[in-house]
Amino acid sequence: MLAVAVIASGCGSEHSAAPVATAKANTAAQLKQAKAAKAAAAAKVKANELGQIPVLMFHRVIKNPATTDDRTPEQFRADLDRLVRDDYVPITAAEFVTGKIDIPAGKHPVVLTFDDSSPSQLTLDEMGTVKADTAVAILREVAAKHPGFRPVATFYVTRDMFGKTVREEQAQALGWLRDNGFDIGNHTRDHVNLRGRPQKDVEEQIGAIQKQITSLVNVKPITLALPYGNQPTNKEWAMHGKFGDVTYRNSGVFLAGYTPAPSPFSKSFDPMGIPRIRAMDKKGDCVQFCSIAWLDWLNHNPDMRYTSDGDVRTVAYPKFKTPFLRTSFTTWSLPY
Ligand SMILES: [Zn+2]
Repeated sequence: MLAVAVIASGCGSEHSAAPVATAKANTAAQLKQAKAAKAAAAAKVKANELGQIPVLMFHRVIKNPATTDDRTPEQFRADLDRLVRDDYVPITAAEFVTGKIDIPAGKHPVVLTFDDSSPSQLTLDEMGTVKADTAVAILREVAAKHPGFRPVATFYVTRDMFGKTVREEQAQALGWLRDNGFDIGNHTRDHVNLRGRPQKDVEEQIGAIQKQITSLVNVKPITLALPYGNQPTNKEWAMHGKFGDVTYRNSGVFLAGYTPAPSPFSKSFDPMGIPRIRAMDKKGDCVQFCSIAWLDWLNHNPDMRYTSDGDVRTVAYPKFKTPFLRTSFTTWSLPY
């Protein structure tokens, strides 16, 4: 409303007062109408942009899993097929933490994250062709079969760099991700447990890998995944710090477990500790707290799940959820 008043008085300054007042009233009425139409459209798809978002945590995608963190190519394909069936559309971790959730009306965002930069996630040959059955290859195949299912994900990189030790090859892998719409995140240089470490060590671990990524492909990660999900003594050290001539500033820091994440527009959102969900079947301790169980739960609790209104510039939700809106997003709010 403020913007409208300023525009109306600005362009009407040389005219008499009456037409300005009429124009102002007309514009206000038009805006009100447009907003009502948007709210009606949001209500129709039951938009809930204060709802929860699953951030799935993957490690290796390999034929013979060695640990419960690994997925076989078949399991990973099935994971993605299920997300397609359940009307999810992938967004990156960077898009998630900055609230840039640009997906069609009625769809749900999902964040696919891959830790430890293993060759099973991305391997390129010398021509730059992606090796079959890697995570990236499978994601692109599924997306090609299902238009609208965006082939995007976030890769949390350590010095392992997809198994490449030569700088040119490291630059090839990271550059390929950058050029194909993938997101590169920070997973510390040596994959050390940051819990209990002095600030200097924490900043070195985070700053050093950022420096390496930036020097290879001129990308500055804006999210970090904590190794083992463990926060440093002071959570702020993961968000911003210095190492030599490098300063880093993260917009979001991800944990390792065990629930869907709050919407970035919700008051429950804590950028310093964003939960993720292990990609795993309903077995053992995963009966309740891993991906299959949580995706079932979100299907059964649609009022708890993030559903888009299709407009990236609004935050739409049922009116009664207003107390849960982060005040910094009031301007974009569209309660219905
Ligand atoms: Zn890791």
